[in-house]
Order: sequence, then C-alpha cells, then structure tokens
Amino acid sequence: MFPRSFDYLAPESLDDALSMLAEHGEDAKVLAGGQSLIPLMKLRFAAPDYIIDINRITGLGSVHENGSLSVGALVRTHDIERSELIRRRYPAMAAAAPLISDPLVRNLGTVVGSLCHADPQGDWASVMLAMNADIVCRNGAAERRIPVSEFVQGPFTTTLDPTEIATEVDIPDPGADTFGTYMKLERKVGDFASVGVAVHLSFDGRKVERAGIGLTAVGPANIKATEAEQLLAGAELDGGTIARAADLCAEAADPHSDLRGSADYKRAMVRVFVSRALNAAAAGKAA
Ligand SMILES: Cc1cc2nc3c(=O)[nH]c(=O)nc-3n(C[C@H](O)[C@H](O)[C@H](O)COP(=O)(O)OP(=O)(O)OC[C@H]3O[C@@H](n4cnc5c(N)ncnc54)[C@H](O)[C@@H]3O)c2cc1C
Repeated sequence: MFPRSFDYLAPESLDDALSMLAEHGEDAKVLAGGQSLIPLMKLRFAAPDYIIDINRITGLGSVHENGSLSVGALVRTHDIERSELIRRRYPAMAAAAPLISDPLVRNLGTVVGSLCHADPQGDWASVMLAMNADIVCRNGAAERRIPVSEFVQGPFTTTLDPTEIATEVDIPDPGADTFGTYMKLERKVGDFASVGVAVHLSFDGRKVERAGIGLTAVGPANIKATEAEQLLAGAELDGGTIARAADLCAEAADPHSDLRGSADYKRAMVRVFVSRALNAAAAGKAA
C-alpha cells in the first residue's frame, strides 16, 4: 500500500512551517511522529498534497516545568516513559506511556500528535483530560490556548484550524500531595485500549482537593467524567464515595459493542478500573 504522491516540505523554523500551512491550508498536513498519519495515507484515508514535517524545528522537543508542565510538540511517548520528572510528579502520565503500543511507535509518536489525531482509542487524551491540560496552538503570530476538553470534539475531530500548529500541551501543577494512574484493558500487549481509565487526584490532607478522570475507548471521543470529578472534590475516599464515583463513570461511558467486547462489558470495566484506582489512592492515604 502506497500513499498518493505528495510534496514534502521540511521547514526549519515554526514561522516557516506556519507560513507553509497558511499557503496550503487544507491541502497540507503536519507530520510529527507519523505513526497515525502515515498509516492513514497508506490506506488513502488521507491524501494531502503537501506534508509539512515539523521534526527539524528546534524548541519543540522539551519537557519542562515552569509553574506548569510544558510538553512540546516533538516530545515522544518514549521521552515521557524515560523522564524522571514525570515519574516523580506526574504518575498518570508515567503509567500511561509504557502502555502505548510498542517501543517502535513510542520512539516516534508524540503526545501532542496523539491529541491532534483525536482517536477515541488514544490513551493520551484521557490522561490530559484527567489532568485538566490545555493545548497551545499557533496560527501565524497568534497563539491560543484550548482546554483539551474543548479541543477534542469527536472521532478524529478537533477544534484545530487547518492553518494552526499545536506547539505544546500544558499541564497544571499537580500540587505536592497527588495520586495518579492509568489503567488499560488490552486484548494483548501493545493493542489499542478496549477500555482505559486515567485518574489524577490532588489531596488536601485526607480530602480530595481536585479530581480528574478521563475514559478511553468508551465513546465517540475520550470522555471527561465530570460528575464523578465533582463528587470526589472535597470528599474523603471512603467505600461509599468510591462506589458512587465508579458508578458515575460507568454511566458517563457510552461504549459500543465490537470485537473488543460488548458495551455492557466495557461499561463494567470502567466501573472496575475507577474503583481500583480510587481504592489504591485511598490505601496510599491510609499507609
Ligand atoms: C501499530 C500502532 C499502534 C498504536 N497503538 C496505540 C495505542 O495503544 N495507544 C495510543 O494512544 N496510540 C497508539 N498509536 C498511535 C500513536 O500513539 C501515534 O503516534 C499518535 O496517535 C500520533 O502521534 P504522531 O506524533 O505519530 O502523529 P502524526 O501521525 O504525525 O500525526 C497525527 C495527526 O495529528 C496531526 N498533527 C500531529 N502533530 C501536530 C501538531 N503539532 N500540530 C498540528 N497537527 C498535528 C497530523 O497532521 C495528523 O493529522 C498506535 C500507532 C500504531 C502505528
């Protein structure tokens, strides 16, 4: 399977890349890791006239904290997997990274590319929904910041304009006392999620100060379980609260039956994973 022929452009600065996008608009596609775009082109689900490869642009490849965590557009899943900072401070991200496909895909695929691709089975969007992240986009000289909850609109659909480049994803400071995890049900190692659950909690003493929960592969887009988040905020993690939050997440899920399982099974797995994650957080508090 070969893609349709296209012109390959390799700008060395963000400004040049944005000018090329402004010129070619919907006829062009940005190439980051290529792990989703290239397969789509080979299958001819995408047939852009121009590919704008952003990999030569400097300044998009760093992960750093400056009040919040910035993950640049060329940060690979592998970079997250290997980051000591992420392991120490952002456990939901650290848990998700090694569960994404295999080392080949993780070495090239980017976090920001995954968000732009907006596959409802993508793992990163759930983590970013749980962590209340924003995506930062440039269009010419203009920059805008969009909460991931508004950025991802539906299957393979975002609010990104064809002339915009997403430059980073920005994650709020989780605070000093946090819990985070990502749980993923896969048919086999490296598979896309049958169900995935991201949980991120910030604590004030024994009480949850802020809760974030994102659900993967159980709807037309990744789901932010806002009712469960609201229930948990200000609460202590006792058995009743955990059970109610898990129920609310299962109710928020909107899965369909397919080769990976029935809708009822997937909804039940959401309940199980949310309950497991919150019980693990409660056990950590009790220790
Ligand atoms: C075999 C295989 C298994 C996989 N399994 C999983 C899995 O289990 N879980 C999972 O989450 N993902 C999985 N993926 C997807 C993988 O994580 C992709 O790398 C990711 O979804 C897209 O990142 P990318 O950098 O490769 O983006 P690309 O393929 O380069 O781009 C994807 C789309 O986003 C756009 N885009 C990318 N970056 C930008 C930007 N900065 N600004 C504007 N637009 C941009 C592109 O134009 C394109 O439309 C798998 C992929 C493969 C090939």
